[in-house]
Amino acid sequence: MPEPSGQAAIVTGAARGIGAAIAARLIADGVRMLLADRDEGVHATATRLGGMPLVLDVAAAGAGSAMAEAALAAFGRLDILVNNAGIGGSRALADSDDALIARFLDINLAAVLRVTRDVMPHLPRPGGRIVNVSSIFGIAGHPGTTAYAVAKAGIAQFTRQLAGELAPEGITVNAVAPGVIETAMTEGHLRNAYYRRAVLDPTPLRRAGKPEEVAAVVAFLASADASYVAGQVIAVDGGWLAARHPPME
Ligand code: NAD
Repeated sequence: MPEPSGQAAIVTGAARGIGAAIAARLIADGVRMLLADRDEGVHATATRLGGMPLVLDVAAAGAGSAMAEAALAAFGRLDILVNNAGIGGSRALADSDDALIARFLDINLAAVLRVTRDVMPHLPRPGGRIVNVSSIFGIAGHPGTTAYAVAKAGIAQFTRQLAGELAPEGITVNAVAPGVIETAMTEGHLRNAYYRRAVLDPTPLRRAGKPEEVAAVVAFLASADASYVAGQVIAVDGGWLAARHPPME
């Protein structure tokens, strides 16, 4: 076990998948952890990992303040915010009704702005860290997932925008853009022949990624080692954005 760093963090969407892996990795690095998720399963995940659970919808009014208050009450400080919670399964624009568009833009984008606005006053200056979770589909176009992709592109620009606003105060803001990662979100996609042809097969590393491989990059961005990294959106995608190409045969 590493020496506890004394730091404390919030990870949203931490009940499972990439969020649970990020929480596990930061806890292993000695960070005290508030795991927030709207899924009651966050209780079991927090117990398993040794963190504190909070059942909450990040898109609800006051979610950011509620998380900050819970973390400060439990740990007496708050150093790191990881905005990971998100929903998948959006559609092409022609098949997107008003409710779908509103849901994706609210949970995957607007909620991140509201939560961050309400958490960031509590982060240390200097030394605070904000890490957002975008997507390769927020950077390169991919048909059939329009509202999701637009929200994730917003996360990438939000990262650059807020980095400029907070860097002078000593807080860094960065993001990861995962490619295809093996989680519940992609279980169905990976059974879909078009998705496999368009995303998995052309991935130069020729496999899907694991949540732990995203968590490792988030942990770096949240660490002191990343003290001079600001406003970056780092792809964790097996090379898909850089050089996607199908197998020769
Ligand atoms: P997942 O569905 O396995 O887990 C998402 C978690 O977020 C769930 O526990 C869910 O309950 C929670 N959540 C969703 N909406 C919430 C809300 N409104 N309030 C609180 N909690 C909420 O998905 P995942 O694959 O682990 O995805 C995590 C993040 O990574 C998402 O932002 C997703 O868009 C992004 N991402 C995933 C992939 C991938 O291939 N899996 C690729 C690119 C980006």
